[in-house]
This record gives sequence, structure tokens and C-alpha cells, in this order.
Amino acid sequence: MAQPAFDSAYARLPDRFFARVTPTPVAAPRLIKVNEPLAAELGIDPAWLASDEGVAALAGNRVPDTATPIATAYAGHQFGGFVPQLGDGRAILLGEVIDRNGKRRDVQLKGAGPTPFSRRGDGRAALGPVLREYLVSEAMQALGIPTTRALAAVTTGERVIRETMLPGAVLTRVASSHIRVGTFQFFAARGDVEGVRTLADHVIARHYPQAADAERPYLALLEAVIAAQAELIARWLLVGFIHGVMNTDNMSVAGETIDYGPCAFLDEYDPGMVLSAIDSYGRYAYANQPSIAQWNLTRLAECLIPLLGDDADAAAADAIRALEDFGPAFERAYQAGLRSKLGLATEREGDAALVNDLMQAMAANTADFTLTFRGLSEAAADEARDAEVRTLFADPAAYDAWAPRWRQRLAEEPGDPAARRDAMLAVNPAFIPRNHRIEAVIRAAVDRDDFAPFEELLTVLAHPYDAQPRFERYMEPPGAHERVQQTFCGT
Ligand code: AMP
Ligand code: MG
Repeated sequence: MAQPAFDSAYARLPDRFFARVTPTPVAAPRLIKVNEPLAAELGIDPAWLASDEGVAALAGNRVPDTATPIATAYAGHQFGGFVPQLGDGRAILLGEVIDRNGKRRDVQLKGAGPTPFSRRGDGRAALGPVLREYLVSEAMQALGIPTTRALAAVTTGERVIRETMLPGAVLTRVASSHIRVGTFQFFAARGDVEGVRTLADHVIARHYPQAADAERPYLALLEAVIAAQAELIARWLLVGFIHGVMNTDNMSVAGETIDYGPCAFLDEYDPGMVLSAIDSYGRYAYANQPSIAQWNLTRLAECLIPLLGDDADAAAADAIRALEDFGPAFERAYQAGLRSKLGLATEREGDAALVNDLMQAMAANTADFTLTFRGLSEAAADEARDAEVRTLFADPAAYDAWAPRWRQRLAEEPGDPAARRDAMLAVNPAFIPRNHRIEAVIRAAVDRDDFAPFEELLTVLAHPYDAQPRFERYMEPPGAHERVQQTFCGT
């Protein structure tokens, strides 16, 4: 059983990019879960991860021989206010591994003890948020949405102090990198243009190698990050995902969903939905996510302006042009996704209005987002299945008024109904990590030390687009008493 072989490019960057740290050992590590398929993808022996030595490494009690543990420096706008120094306060990067496809991936312990960036925090994570991040990030992966991954979770045998005493845990997170918009801001805020340049070169080499060949590599980098985020946010909206804390330090320049805190999926469709208990102004509401992403990308552009040329005005104009692409790129991806969700393979005038009218009817009638589109997939091949969709609307007549327009439009589509239904089932999931299910998993684990519900939910979420008749109850929205109104920060 071999230890993983780390090769840490980030730790070879200049000293001011990070602090060298050692994870703080915990009392009694116990394995919750190893993600075996991901371990295989990374070329890490899952049997080693589950061994005593592996579990000790996953808990931070023993640093693997080739690891160079660091906490990375970053800044960030939190709810619009700039904090010049945040950094990994409870996350320790063990290093990078080169995966089976030759891709460099970060392996990070979240909750492994204090670092020089911890400020007043304890550097620890509670079990509940660790389970939530594990479930939701792996669900996103199964949904086909770029995301950080969960390689393993362990409990620590220690308690952490939050509003109450809670069991502690450590999540092993895997990412293309943990470089954030806030990482650029850290150097830019200090007037450290060389730092910004070194970071940009690292990001280009690692995530956007094609930008190196562009006439203006740093502008190409900005354009590539903007394009990746436009696509990502469209994908979020298309499955009803609310990130919850889209601070600039929680936005990955690699275009992956990162930092699952008070995140959630919509049950009933409500574009104004806000979940985070600390988001009192609704800054990070579901429907605000595209404009917040553009706001964050504008902060990234500001950092890059000194690299875009000697003439600051011309550089700013170039950055603004690049940012102006965000809206159209997002809209293209979002509208194309919505058309697919309705079974429209071609594009016609009036499609946007058709989609929009459905969404408005859903919002006005508290229709379940996921079940409506899943139901439409079945109804596309069998009009009798309209019966199931219409009952999702508080006033079923709202669906009845819309459905004939959709059918008329479908009649103009090429292809047969069965193929259309299959295509729709492949983009309209049956199973999403519904908040009340996650809460039930957390309750079982925290209150009763029972991880069976966690395992079962993980199994269901691994195949979101399959029918899974055995698990049909996991499709159901929360009952009135199960409804989760707010989620709280993972800290
Ligand atoms: P988050 O809300 O998880 O994105 O974290 C925001 C900032 O607070 C980051 O710099 C974290 O590293 C830091 N932080 C969050 N929780 C803790 C904690 N328990 N101990 C130390 N730092 C923390
Ligand atoms: Mg964060």
C-alpha cells in the first residue's frame, strides 16, 4: 500500500504566497468515508486511505512523506466589503497530485487546525457542514457541473464550539486548484504587481494554457475566466442551485464550484430565494447569481489591469470589453440549457418567451423546480403524463394554459418523442440534494452517530438522471414540517 506522491507547484511559488503549516493532530480519528472512484482517478490507493496510516493522514495526525503542507494567502470581498487578508484559516493544502489524465489536482484538508490566517477561528470544521459539502459537491459532480470534490471525511473524536458543542470532522477536498479571485486581490491590494503577474502565469500554465499562445495572454486569461464563470453560473441556475456566499474569496478562477457553505437547491421555484442566514439583504439570492458573478469578475479584472498594458486607460477599456461578454455568454448558455430542458433541440423565435412564461407560472404557483422539468420530460412522450405535472402547480390551470403552446412548439421539432424524452431525462435530474434530506442525514450522524442515511443519500445522488424506482421517495419535496428555511455558514 503506497502513500500518494505529492508534487507541489504552489509551494514552489514565492514565500509570500502561503505559510508553511503543520496540521494539528486530533484525539481519535475515525473514517466516515473514502471516495474510491475519485481515489482511483487520482492514482491514490483507496486501501491506503482507509488504513490506519491513511486515516491518520486524512485527520492531519500524520503528514504524508512527500506532502508540503501550506495555508494559502488570499483576500476577498465579503458581502461587498473588502478584507485585505483572509487566507486558509482552517484548510491546509497537503500538495498536488498528478491524476490519471495527467491533470494537477490539489488535495486539501478542511478543518485540520489553525493556521497563521485563522484570525479568531479555531481552524476546525463541524461534522454537519463536512457532510453537507461532501454530499453537495459529489452531487454536483454527478450532475455534470464543474466542482471541487470530496475525497474523504473523518471524524476527529473532538468537539468544536459553535452555537453549541458539535462533533468535529475533517473533509479532504480535491480541486483543480484553490486559487480564487481573492488570491489575485491579495497581491493587488498590496500594490504587488509582480505577485499578480506570478500568480497569473501560474494560473495560465495550470488552467488556461491556450492563453499563453494568445497575442495578449493576460487579457486571454481574463476572457477565459469570464467564459468559464458564465458557463458555470448558467449550469447552477439550470439545476436550481444557490451557492449562498459568492464572496470573491469563494470564486475559483478555474471555474469550479467551490466552498459549499450555506448552499442549497431550490425546491419550489422562487427566483428571489435567499438561504444564507447571514445574507440579510439577499445579495446572493438565486436570481442574483449572474450579476454577482460579473461583479466578482470585475474585481478580478481590476487586479489584472496593470498586466494589460502600460496605458492604464486602454487597459481598463480592454478589461471592460471583456467583462461585457459575461452577460451575453451567460444568457447563451442559460437559454440553450433551458431549451434543452424543454426538449427543444432547435432554436426558434418565441422560445425565450415560451420558457419565461413557464418559469413565471412556476414561480406564481410554487411549482417544484426539479419535479416540473422531470415531469415535462415524461410528458414530452406521453400527453397523459401532463396529469402529474399540472398538480405541481398551486393552480393547475396555469399549467393547462401553457402546455398547449409547448406541444405546438414541440410539433415543429425534428426527432421522435421517445428520443426527445430520453434527451430531456438526461438534462432534467430526478434527484438533487434536497435540503431537508441533508438535514436528516446530519441529524442522524450528529445525534445518533448513524451514517447509514449519509451513505444512502450519497448512493442516490450518484445517479441523478436515472429513474431509481427503489429510491423514489428521495425525489419528493419537503413536507410542510420538513421545510428548511435557512442554512448557516459552515464555520
Ligand atoms: P468561508 O466562509 O468558509 O468561505 O470562510 C471565510 C474565511 O474565514 C476564510 O478565510 C476561512 O479560512 C476563514 N474561516 C472560516 N471558518 C474558520 C474557522 N473555523 N477557523 C479559522 N478560520 C476560519
Ligand atoms: Mg471560503
